[in-house]
Amino acid sequence: AKKQRIDKILSNIGYGSRAEIKRYCKNGVVTVNGAVASNPGLQVDHENDEIIFDGEKVNYREFIYIMMNKPDGYISATFDKHDPIVLDLIDSSYLAFEPFPVGRLDKDTEGLLVLTNDGKLSHRVLSPKKHVPKTYYAKIDGIVTDKDTKAFEEGVVLDDGYKTMPAQLNILKSDETSEIELTIHEGKFHQVKRMFESVDKKVVYLKRLSMGKLKLDETLALGEYRELTDEEVKLIE
Ligand code: URA
Repeated sequence: AKKQRIDKILSNIGYGSRAEIKRYCKNGVVTVNGAVASNPGLQVDHENDEIIFDGEKVNYREFIYIMMNKPDGYISATFDKHDPIVLDLIDSSYLAFEPFPVGRLDKDTEGLLVLTNDGKLSHRVLSPKKHVPKTYYAKIDGIVTDKDTKAFEEGVVLDDGYKTMPAQLNILKSDETSEIELTIHEGKFHQVKRMFESVDKKVVYLKRLSMGKLKLDETLALGEYRELTDEEVKLIE
């Protein structure tokens, strides 16, 4: 595998800043293949060389998986000219892995957003062939009724002529402002908002609750995030 500086490798996987790692190296905390790596610029192959930090073997991670409770006002992209992006909320030790969002939530949509640098997983999850279910909670301007539930189950025609796949609508509150949960199995642009537009109603608040079997950790405040466990990663697809 490609060689990298030992200080870069260790800071990338969260052992500290580059400056901190340099100090650890100078202080003899790091060994590579049994020899003290006092030079932070030492070129190391993280797959084949054995790195020990403070007496413990370093497990190099290639991939990271993050769950964020996305707040309103942030773009789910890796760059935007005008607006803040979800990566602005993430600590530099994670940014070193170059994560990107798996699919998009609208700027004003909140809730579950997965970020990873695992392009293959992202590709599989987003594949139109896979139909990974996504469940949303929404507040709707308008009285949502069983008629809408039936229409969504049969598929509705969006403004561009596309007919949606069967989706499950669960009405939590049917009132002037209704509350619902909706599960869709595809991901067209602004899909939930456009499905309600097709039945003459307006989404006034939208939050994603789950992706596949992975549920938003409701202990995360808006803008907070944490790494997924290995078990949770498997739940996404
Ligand atoms: N559907 C929408 O309309 N917006 C989102 O952000 C996600 C699904």
